Amino acid sequence: MNQLRWHALLQQWVVVSTGRQDRPQMPADWCPFDPGSGKVPDDYDVSLYPNDFPAFSPAAAPFAPAPGLFAETGPRGACDVILYSPEHALPPSQLTVENWRKVIDLWTQRTREHAENPDITLVAVFENCGEAVGVTMPHPHGQIYAMPFIPPNVERELASARQYADAHGGDCLYCRLLSEELKQDRRIVASDGHFVAFVPYAARFPAEVAIYARRHTRTLLDLNDEEKSSLANCISIVRKKYDNLYGFVMPLMMTVKQAPLQQPQAPYHLHVQFLPLQRSATKLKYLASIETGYGTFLADTAPEQMAENLRRCEPQT
Ligand SMILES: [Zn+2]
Ligand SMILES: [Zn+2]
Repeated sequence: MNQLRWHALLQQWVVVSTGRQDRPQMPADWCPFDPGSGKVPDDYDVSLYPNDFPAFSPAAAPFAPAPGLFAETGPRGACDVILYSPEHALPPSQLTVENWRKVIDLWTQRTREHAENPDITLVAVFENCGEAVGVTMPHPHGQIYAMPFIPPNVERELASARQYADAHGGDCLYCRLLSEELKQDRRIVASDGHFVAFVPYAARFPAEVAIYARRHTRTLLDLNDEEKSSLANCISIVRKKYDNLYGFVMPLMMTVKQAPLQQPQAPYHLHVQFLPLQRSATKLKYLASIETGYGTFLADTAPEQMAENLRRCEPQT
């Protein structure tokens, strides 16, 4: 079964994709992402690999929901794995800036391809890193989900940004938040001429960091050459800082959030979000009842203190 079902109470789509249960356990000494496996090019720096068990796929029924409490529709879209490097055991935090730049170029290229496909509404670029996030495959990789609808968190951000723009002569909410962060200068972690990394004022996850573009850009497609290199550098700095915070590879989720495609009016601002799960050197943050059941997050560390801790970690800028 591969379908989207409407959650009438939360007003969001749930992907029911039962084939994913049958994902095989990989043999311990074999990795499909290694050159020579026959599954990927024998020689690559970064590579795109179509997900073998996609939640969204081009072959699925189209997204055309009829209204109703028990609405269902097809998950037409695409799911790809982005291989960051041919080196099996390299943690993403150890990628060079040049390597991150190649990853960003591949994200951008895939976004451009999806932008021409009327079935795709949102390109979700992300990475799950670490066993604590459920990743069993150590090979450095991220993913891209090309989705036929706008997922609820992006929908909510769009509604907030629309409301703000309406009340402030069309201004961008994200640009305003960034300029306030720069003015207050209490939660900045790193920055350069094009991007700023900071712990958000109301961070929900321990050591959460956001990277905002200084220039108002909506998708990866808007970034110029210099900005892409700057983003690569900024991601590299944050990832290295994370590993130096507790002395091991930080388990985290990384999302690269962009505006919906084919909606030039949608008020959005390209940003990267890091959601780490480690709340101290020995403790993990679990999304328990109050977070998952009620949607209210509890943070154990003041964002200002966490920003200070991250600023002090190498590499210092
Ligand atoms: Zn591998
Ligand atoms: Zn903006």
